[in-house]
Amino acid sequence: MAGTGSVLADRLARGTVLGAEGYVFELERRGYVKAGAYVPEVVLDFPDAVTELHREFLRAGADVMVALTYYAHREKLRQLGRESDLEAMNRQAVRLARKVAAEGGALVAGNVCNTWAYDPQDAAAAGVVRAMYAEQLGWAAEEGIDFVIAETNDYLGEALIALEVSQQLGLPAMVTLATTRPARTWDGYDYVEACKILAAHGAAVVGLNCDRGPATMLPLIARIREQVGCAVAAQPVPYRTDEASPTMESLRTDGVDRVFPLALEPFSCTRFEMADFAAAARDLGVNYVGICCGAGPHHVRAMAEALGRTVPASKYSPAMDLHPILGAAAASQDPDVLAAWNVTR
Ligand SMILES: [Zn+2]
Repeated sequence: MAGTGSVLADRLARGTVLGAEGYVFELERRGYVKAGAYVPEVVLDFPDAVTELHREFLRAGADVMVALTYYAHREKLRQLGRESDLEAMNRQAVRLARKVAAEGGALVAGNVCNTWAYDPQDAAAAGVVRAMYAEQLGWAAEEGIDFVIAETNDYLGEALIALEVSQQLGLPAMVTLATTRPARTWDGYDYVEACKILAAHGAAVVGLNCDRGPATMLPLIARIREQVGCAVAAQPVPYRTDEASPTMESLRTDGVDRVFPLALEPFSCTRFEMADFAAAARDLGVNYVGICCGAGPHHVRAMAEALGRTVPASKYSPAMDLHPILGAAAASQDPDVLAAWNVTR
């Protein structure tokens, strides 16, 4: 791939870039983000928690530290009565990402997402969205980012606004779509066609993030990879979606009233499944391979290793031959202990 002089283009030209996201889900599980609102108040209230998760993803091999500004936009903060914290939250998020990125030579991405304020029939709404992106990305640019990730876009129209704002700031943009519907964006564009339009408008990277697990994202990303000329990104959720339930939102199980978003654990992908995804995406020619809501550092490390890397956290990668029952030491175990472990019911 020809570089265009940006740090992102140079990194993509060197090979597969590994992304790691899902900060909001993980910090919610750790008690720092309120489910429902999902606003990253943690950036100001418990910055060390954000730094720690950045560092865990960095040690696991992530090539990009994404500033935690997902839902840190004016509309959402107004709902929580924290509108006055908007600028501080956005600036602080970039500073935290930059600090950790510098520890490992990672790139720094600013982040904007679907706003819930966009309406394709309403020109005034587009203006509101544009103003929100302009202020968020303006602060991010001042703090110092390498590129923008505009993600989880339900509407192509809203994604194009994020792309234009990024371009006005002179920043390369990776623009990825949410795929909650079978084939089309909420404003009616076939997902492949929408990616082609984003590429034609100058996005550095196009693709998909969130909603779909590896099994249901791979076939669609394969079609996108075939039909666009620019770099392609795939950041699925680590959940076992399938043809009947192609998104995490559509997963159902007996005895659970609502699986998404708080009872998804029975559908979690193992580290091995995410490693298989990383290798499969790389083999398809996906340039930016990552993971979204639900990610843990163990997934990211397994993905990095599947891409052939040894990362800082590889020091503690499994060595099952050292296990007292499953490994070589089992020979010294009492036969009754081994029999109890190996019993099948
Ligand atoms: Zn997500």
